[in-house]
Amino acid sequence: MALEQYQSDMETCCRCSACKFIPLEKVKGYQPVNICPSITYNDFHAYSGGGRMGIGVAILENRLEFTDKLLDVVYNCMTCGGCDISCKYAMDMEVLKPILETRIRCVENGYTLPALDRLVASLRTKGHMIPGTKTKRGDWMEGRVTKDYTTEKCEVIYHAGCRTCYNEDMWKVAQNTIDLLQKAGTDIGIAGDTESCCGGRAYQMGYKEDTVKQAEKNMAVYKKAGVKILVTGCADCYHAFKVLYDEYGLKGNLEVLHTTEYLARLLSEGKMKPGKTINMTVTYHDPCHLGRLGEPYIHWEGKQIPGHIRIFKPPKEFRRGTFGIYETPREILRSIPGINLVEMQRTKEYAWCCGAGGGVTESNPEFAAFIAGERVREAENTGAEAIATACPGCETGFGKSINENGSRLKVYDVIELLHAAVI
Ligand code: SF4
Ligand code: SF4
Repeated sequence: MALEQYQSDMETCCRCSACKFIPLEKVKGYQPVNICPSITYNDFHAYSGGGRMGIGVAILENRLEFTDKLLDVVYNCMTCGGCDISCKYAMDMEVLKPILETRIRCVENGYTLPALDRLVASLRTKGHMIPGTKTKRGDWMEGRVTKDYTTEKCEVIYHAGCRTCYNEDMWKVAQNTIDLLQKAGTDIGIAGDTESCCGGRAYQMGYKEDTVKQAEKNMAVYKKAGVKILVTGCADCYHAFKVLYDEYGLKGNLEVLHTTEYLARLLSEGKMKPGKTINMTVTYHDPCHLGRLGEPYIHWEGKQIPGHIRIFKPPKEFRRGTFGIYETPREILRSIPGINLVEMQRTKEYAWCCGAGGGVTESNPEFAAFIAGERVREAENTGAEAIATACPGCETGFGKSINENGSRLKVYDVIELLHAAVI
């Protein structure tokens, strides 16, 4: 949908600033209440969800030039959706979609950032978003033998994702996943060196056409292989396959599961058992694209009834983050003997972003580091020894922040902890 299709949403913005905070009804006492990293860091209304609604309308009305300052506002946003979910606590309007469409409009008009162009150039020529890497995509396998879904029929496949394949520190997550799946007897297929990017991060950066091309390319491979279930451990990939591919009408009947969902299924079927004790107090960080943005896409066709209040026929259902994946990773952690799970103050729908979204890690690393640092401090305040998450982007950002700031915390993927308890 183009920016024009969200004009009514953007014009509904009443500048109440609720998108900057978690809903006050959810505040239990003295605690951090900011939800939007962009307004927190930049402290000027334009950098909030509401500010970006005004900018979107002004672009449609040709009242704004694509100046460097405008691009600074447009690109210094994590596309984390915190604003969208906070706004929808009271309002029936889209906030994140027009923010993303504004980026798409900038890219369509050639107003891009060199750092992001570089990533997308790598996607177009090499099929991944990690320019300059010397690693081959399948190096993480280190001799593990599985089916190859690019040459064989395969019902269940594992997509590792660029951020895991090209970061040696993250290989352990993919390796642990395969070890657990094989221990449970899953006939899993992977593509090794020929796996291709999901395209999800390109969409977050505004390069929608590249995302659609990746979706078409990947779905053709999956259809040929007879894939029924795609499992991934990356929140961005999960969101792309489950939500974006569905929005584009390309997902078909493919079932998309995060590794925590698939492994929880195997645990409930008794195909593996976390028998080893890990004595550790752990807090869990909800990745934005697995949590509030990970709920299914809702297809809707209809029209808005003219009038001063927005009423739709048929009634329109809004995605409010309620059906994101929150409990499954927590259930896995609770199933491990010895793990004491404690919660941060901003969780689930209202979790603070890790800082790895929207291409900001590459275009403004200081901003990304500020966001990760704030979350690490929040995790420290729980008294936990470790922060567990379920996305390589979050784990990498937290790991960097912990090292740079001398935090006592350790960081793990939930799968690493499960692996240690099972194998
Ligand atoms: S986007 Fe929503 S929450 Fe933010 S100022 Fe506008 S109406 Fe209020
Ligand atoms: S998507 Fe995230 S960073 Fe961007 S305006 Fe909304 S809350 Fe702020």
